[in-house]
Amino acid sequence: KREQTINLGAGPSSLPTSVLLEAAQGILDYDGTGMGLVELSHRSKTFQKLMDKTEADVRALLNVPDTHAVLFLQGGGTEQFSATALNLLAAHAVKNPDYFKSNGNKGPPCDYAVTGSWTAKAVKEAARLGATTNVAIDSRKVDGANGKFGSIPPVSEWKLSPVESKPAMLYYCDNETVDGVEFPNPGFPINDLPEDYRKEVPLVADCSSNILSRPIDVAAHAIVFFGAQKNVGPSGTTVAIVRKDLIVDPDQGVPNGGPRIPTTLVYKNMLDNGSLYNTPPMFAIYASGLVFADLLQNKGGVAGATERSEKKASLIYGLIDNSDGVYLPTVRQASARSRMNVTFRISRAGENKPDEALEEAFVKRCAESNIVQVKGHRSVGGIRTSLYNAVTVEETQKLAEVMTSFMEDVK
Ligand code: PMP
Repeated sequence: KREQTINLGAGPSSLPTSVLLEAAQGILDYDGTGMGLVELSHRSKTFQKLMDKTEADVRALLNVPDTHAVLFLQGGGTEQFSATALNLLAAHAVKNPDYFKSNGNKGPPCDYAVTGSWTAKAVKEAARLGATTNVAIDSRKVDGANGKFGSIPPVSEWKLSPVESKPAMLYYCDNETVDGVEFPNPGFPINDLPEDYRKEVPLVADCSSNILSRPIDVAAHAIVFFGAQKNVGPSGTTVAIVRKDLIVDPDQGVPNGGPRIPTTLVYKNMLDNGSLYNTPPMFAIYASGLVFADLLQNKGGVAGATERSEKKASLIYGLIDNSDGVYLPTVRQASARSRMNVTFRISRAGENKPDEALEEAFVKRCAESNIVQVKGHRSVGGIRTSLYNAVTVEETQKLAEVMTSFMEDVK
C-alpha cells in the first residue's frame, strides 16, 4: 500500500522509502555489529562515528561555518521556544554583567516577529519564563488582516527594540507550518534590518518546517533550529546550530539570580559533550542522518531540493490561482505563501466563502486517490497539503490532477 500512498502530512510526514528500508535494517543489525542501532551504547565508538558523520553532513548541506556548533537535542521545536531565550539571556548576562541592575532590575528585551501560530507560542513561552518580550510585529494586527495570519509586513514596519537597549535576540520563524506563511525568497531579509541592529542583535530562526528546502545564511544567525519530523526524519531530535561565542555556562556570572536553566537545556552542556550529555534520541538521529546523506549524495543537496520545491509549489499555487475561486488561498500576500505547507479553503465558484462540506468532500476525494493527511490544522480548518522534501514532483502532479478534476466537478 505504501507504494500507492501519497502522504502530504504536515509532520510527522513522509520520508524516502529507501531511507526507511535502510533504517529498518539498521534497527535489526547495525553496520555488522550484530546489534540493532537502538541497542548500542551511545558511548560506543560505533555510535560516535555515526554522530560525527551526521554532524559533518549537516555542516556540508547547510554550509555551517566553524564559528557555529551543531547540537542534536530533544524536546522538539517547543523546547527551543524556552532554550533559545534562556541561553541567549544567559549569554547576554555574562557579556553585560551590570545590565540588570542598571536597567531597573529588568532583563534586556527579546524581540519577536510573530507571523504565525508557532512564533505566537514562542513569544508566549519566553514571557512566561520571565523574559522581557517585545512583539516587533504581529501580522494578525496589521491593516486588512482581520486577526488572521497571512502576510509578512516589511521589516521597515516592525517596532524593533532600540539597539541601545541591547536586545538579547530577534526571533522569527522562517516557515509557519500551521498558517502556510513563509518568508519570501530567499528568506529572512537580513539586510533590511538597521545596520547597527543587524550587527549587534543575535538572530534566531525556527526553520522546523522548511530547513533543507532552500539555502539559509547560517553565518548571519546566532541560532538556527529545526525539529526533525518534517523535512528531515522521525520526531525525537531537534537540531540547533548555535554561534559558539554565545554558548556560555549560565551558572557562571549570571547576576541577580538570573534564569537558572535546566541542565538538558543548557547548550554548553550539549556542546561540551558532543550532544551526548545524556542518552540521545539515537533512532531519530540515525534516521535523520540517513536523510542528510541521501540528500547530499543522491539528490543534489539543498540546491536540488530548492529546485524541486519551487516546481512543486508553483504547480499547486498556479492551479489555485486559476481555479475561478474554487480554491481560496489563505495567505493574503502571494509572495509569503509557503512552498512547504500549501493552505487553502474550498468554495463554490463565485461565492468566495469556505464551504466545509466541500472541503470534506475534497479530503474524501483525495483519500480515494490514496492522497492522505491533507486536512488543515485543527486550529484553522480548511486544507493543507504539505510538499516537504520527501514528496516527489510526480506525487505533486498527482495531487494537481485530483485538484483539477475536483474543481471541474464543483464549478
Ligand atoms: N516550530 C514549527 C515551525 C513547527 O512546525 C513545529 C511543529 N509542528 C514546532 C515549532 C513545534 O515542534 P514540536 O512539536 O517538535 O515541539
